[in-house]
Amino acid sequence: MSNQTTSFHTVVLVVAAGRGSRSGVDRPKQYCPLGGKPLVRWSLERLLNHPACDAVRVVIHADDVAAYAEATAGLALGVPVIGGATRQESVRLGLEAIAAEGGAERVLIHDAARPFITHELVDRLLAALNETPGATPALRVVDTLCREAEGTSPAPIQGDAVARDRLWRVQTPQAFRFEPLLAAHRATEAEGNESFTDDTGVLRHQGHKVALVEGDERNIKVTLPQDWQRAGEILMSMSSIRTGFGYDVHRFAAGDHVWLCGIEVPHTQTLAGHSDADVGLHALTDAILGAIAEGDIGQHFPPSDPKWKGAPSWKFLDHARALVEAKGGVIEHVDVTLVCERPKVGPHRPAMTARIAEILRLTPARVSVKATTTERLGFTGREEGIAAQAVATVRLPAE
Ligand code: MG
Repeated sequence: MSNQTTSFHTVVLVVAAGRGSRSGVDRPKQYCPLGGKPLVRWSLERLLNHPACDAVRVVIHADDVAAYAEATAGLALGVPVIGGATRQESVRLGLEAIAAEGGAERVLIHDAARPFITHELVDRLLAALNETPGATPALRVVDTLCREAEGTSPAPIQGDAVARDRLWRVQTPQAFRFEPLLAAHRATEAEGNESFTDDTGVLRHQGHKVALVEGDERNIKVTLPQDWQRAGEILMSMSSIRTGFGYDVHRFAAGDHVWLCGIEVPHTQTLAGHSDADVGLHALTDAILGAIAEGDIGQHFPPSDPKWKGAPSWKFLDHARALVEAKGGVIEHVDVTLVCERPKVGPHRPAMTARIAEILRLTPARVSVKATTTERLGFTGREEGIAAQAVATVRLPAE
């Protein structure tokens, strides 16, 4: 039933109009941060990136216009649709808005509170639409089920068992042929029936078939306060390890101490630089920035800026740490090598390790400080300056 007048082949409608009253937070949960970005943004980005999805539209609550704009900054989503009193009404208003844009052949309807959809799941759903006008991801129920005994809430007593065979747990996104779903929503509205909690119910009520497609255990709905911890765990399980490298050199000048890895070390010379010239912390800061692909230390702290004259370099390292945290990442390990003949690093190594661990908020077991000479060769061998190399290993959430 291809239709030449539709403007989209496949469009996604994300429902973000709920108030999230069960989630235990002070604003609608879809705008609360998970791993450094708002909950709703995880699924929006993944849907926008899917090659088969031509457009993504979002239904929001009238009170959330500002929160929505902030949460979706930079995403190509068009003007949000203001939702209705029930989920069913919100979806219908979203479908009508898409129809007003020229309609579509297929529509995916997704709940903003499910951040962990995968492209594979979307592919399975769209493939199922070749056979039926609707398809939903679902998982077989494997736990034993029971109903609580009547009149025993909120201190429930176990009542009768419920047969679990042929029972499924239904997820989103759900996929539909657009025209039958829009017609089903209009017909159900005309009946005054607002009882449906998902769109497969609306479609089936009008006599259509809906296919059950294998869902994904990670595709959880963040509903209760404890779901945030589970969501964080899933995010980490979908994470990736990144490695960054840093290198720095500072030349010697007249003085009586050097700063190395956050420790003031007495010496017959000092290191010249705009800041405190802590070559070890500079290399380490660059390694962390490299691991998260956030440029280099010179971009964040330009030597031309008088603000950083004489600055303690732990501030640079702390800034890099905060950038990792803002992305929802964790620093797994750092390793610094100082290259110099003198001063001798060995006696200061425990203090350097402890100081870096303190700045990065890591246990000392995740921090390594090493030193080597260059056998009196090169500029470090001639004691013209000190060089440092560093490697940082960072775990970032799935994109
Ligand atoms: Mg430097």
